[in-house]
This record gives sequence, structure tokens and C-alpha cells, in this order.
Amino acid sequence: TVRTRFAPSPTGFLHVGGARTALFSWAYARHFGGQFILRIEDTDLERSTPEAVQAIIDGMQWLGLQHDEGPFYQMQRMDRYREVVAKMLEDGSAYLCYSSPEEVEAMRERQRAASEKPRYDGTWRPEPGKTLPAIPEGRKPVVRFRNPTDGEVTWNDVVKGSITIANRELDDLVIARPDGTPTYNFCVAIDDWDMKITHVIRGDDHVNNTPRQINILRALGAELPQYGHLPMIHGTDGQKLSKRHGAVSVTDYPEQGYLPEAMLNYLARLGWSHGDDEIFSMEQFVQWFDLDHLTKSPAQFNFEKLDWLNNHYIKQADNARLAEFVRPRLEALGARFDGAPELPAVLGLMKDRINTLNELAAAAMLFYREPAPQADLLAQHLTDAIKPALAQFAERLAAVEWKKEAVSGVLKEVLAANQLKMPQLAMPLRLLITGQLQTPSIDAVLVLFDRDVVLARLKKYL
Ligand code: GLU
Repeated sequence: TVRTRFAPSPTGFLHVGGARTALFSWAYARHFGGQFILRIEDTDLERSTPEAVQAIIDGMQWLGLQHDEGPFYQMQRMDRYREVVAKMLEDGSAYLCYSSPEEVEAMRERQRAASEKPRYDGTWRPEPGKTLPAIPEGRKPVVRFRNPTDGEVTWNDVVKGSITIANRELDDLVIARPDGTPTYNFCVAIDDWDMKITHVIRGDDHVNNTPRQINILRALGAELPQYGHLPMIHGTDGQKLSKRHGAVSVTDYPEQGYLPEAMLNYLARLGWSHGDDEIFSMEQFVQWFDLDHLTKSPAQFNFEKLDWLNNHYIKQADNARLAEFVRPRLEALGARFDGAPELPAVLGLMKDRINTLNELAAAAMLFYREPAPQADLLAQHLTDAIKPALAQFAERLAAVEWKKEAVSGVLKEVLAANQLKMPQLAMPLRLLITGQLQTPSIDAVLVLFDRDVVLARLKKYL
């Protein structure tokens, strides 16, 4: 059975790149009917915060990336790590190292001066027939992993293909600090083992950690997971995606008016493809997703394409659902709902040409405020020549069936009778009813308002 995990460090916000990793891990587990595990890697006490944990949970929930197990917290697994460290000390796959930080630093200096790769020189590494130095008084040891000195580590990365690292390139990694706390790579290896992870899908900033984790797992006799390292996400300028390009925190997107299905669809195509398919549901994605169609080169985060998808999903969305998102936004804009048109109907009319829910709310505002047409626009569009025709139209409106087709019919009749063109009536109507010149088709706008409201607004100027 397939078991994948998402293992974020709660040190900031949930980055869109992290969300993409989570999405792929989630989809892979779902594709095979396996399990998806959420693990919070919170051992960096200085940088981890409860707010960051919450941002991860919120972001995953917004996207609907439901985990089957967890969240597990590494800080709650300390006893387990200590137990494994003790076992490794016992079976000789790890050893106590009493070199002081100053000694290790001096070692590195010497190696750098000799143009060698800095690594622990093995002073405290036990070897048959070797006598270890006397333990310096009062000094607390670190625990080092006894890395193999020859041979190599090879794994077949599901994204990058075969990767080989010579063991002599790898250090005897510190797995526990003088105070007994375990270190990063060690915790990850133990967790992947204990949680029976079959596929580790993560960012390729972790490629260098993989041979270290593999060696630890091997020393423990653990079965190795498959590893897949996803290329980074860049901006369209080819630079690593950052705030400079736009929002990089997942939780900024609901705030800015993106629908989760648009974000998911967008992230799914970020480094993975299924022919030319651009728009697809999560059901389809789960069905299609595999590790064979991952792109080897960095993916580019294109905000315009995300907008395009968001526009698509807003158009598809049920208007009552959209209303739930838009209502609080309208309230924040000072909307007045008394006697105003029903929101779902308004959104149905307004949602075609906008990219975000924020834009949708701003566009819908014309139905929820008192119109205040500018004097110069009035002077330009509500001329004395037009007023009689407008008055005629108002009169006919009072009796017409309050439907778009009927209102449109009356409008055309009044235009014809007065030998006017559509904009000559439509523009002043827009101004008087909505206060602005840009609206959807005026007949559609009119019938969303109550007839009384329309007549009152016209009367004010006629
Ligand atoms: N905690 C790591 C990070 O946030 C991920 C570790 C992993 O996936 O192995 O980058």
C-alpha cells in the first residue's frame, strides 16, 4: 500500500511550493487508495511557531488536502528518537564524539586550507585496534552516525532519475546534540521509517539530505522508501518564486478572492502535465496523477494563468456559493442590502469578466450603494434633448412586465420613436440608476432592481 507524507517545518507561512508538494503527495496516495500523512517538523524551536502550524493546517484545509494520519509533531516523538540513538550506540552504528565545537572548527579550518572537503576527521570514531583519546573532563558528547567510508549511495529518483553520491563525500553526521536532542536528518529518517512511508515526495532542496537519510535507514535495517525530488518553483523571470512576484503564502489566496479549485488546478499543472489538459477536476487529477509525467526543470508560477483559471471556476461556480464569499466583501465595502437586488442574481450577471472574488465584489457594488453620478457626466449624457425620451421610457417602465425581454422591447420602441441610438438612452440610464457608465447590458441591470427603486432614481432627475 502506498503511504506518502507532507512534512513541513512550521517556520513561516505555507508556501505555494509546499502546497504543490503536498498536493502531489496527497494525489499519489489517493490514486492508489493509500494513506497521506501530515507531519509537522517542529524541532527547530527558535523558528517554529504555533501560528505557522495553524497556517499549514488552514492552508491544507482550504485546499481540501485531507490527511489520513496525523498531524504528527516531531517534538512529541523525542522519546522515540532517543530510543533509536541508544540502540545505535549499542550496536555500533553510532558513537560518542567528545570533540569540542572549537576542535571541530579547527579541523574544518585545516581542511579548508588544504582545499579538502570539510568533514569530521574521525578522532572519536572507534575502529578495531584503535585506542580512543581520554575523555575530557566534564565535556558532554554528541552522537555521530558511523557513515560507511567506502562505496556509494545510489537511488533511482522518481523525478530526477538515478543519483549516486560517494560515501567519502558524506560526513559522520551528528545525530544527537550534547543535550541529547536529535538532529534534523535523523528525525526525518526515523519518522519515514516508523510511519512506513513508501514514497517521499519533496522539494529538490532536500536532494543533499537523501543519501544521509538512506545511510541511516540502512544502518537500521529499514526498507527504503522511493524518493522523488520536485524542481523548485520560479517566477516568470526565472528567479526563485518570492514575494516580489506576488503572493507566495497559500492563505493569502482566499483573502485575495481565489477559489480553492482554481488554486488546486493551477498547482496540479505546476511541474506535471497530462497531455494538453489545462482544466480538470481533482477527481480527474487523482485518476491521472503519476510520477512519470513530472517535469525535470523548474516550473514557472504564472499569476495570469492562475487568474484565468480563477475566472473559469468563478463562472462555473454556483451563484449562491459565490454569494457566501462575496457578501462579507461587500459589507467591508459599505454595501447597503436594504431593498437591493438579490446577491446571487447580481453575481450571475457580473461574474463573466472578473478574475477574483474581490473584483467581483467591487463590480457588484453598483447594486448596493446610492448612485452619485458626477455632474460633468450628467451634463454630457443627460442632455435636454434626451430628457423627454427618458421620461417616456420611465412612464412605460411603470407598466411593463418586469422582465429583461419586456424592458428591452420598451427601450427599443422608445429609441425608435425618438430616432435615438442605444447609447443615447443607455448611458444616461446607467448614470442615473448606478452612478457609473460601465455596467452589463442595461436591461439586465434594470430588472435586477425593484421597479420602484428604478422609477425613483429616474424621477430624481426628470
Ligand atoms: N521539513 C522539510 C521542509 O519543510 C521537509 C522535509 C521532507 O519533506 O523530508 O522543507
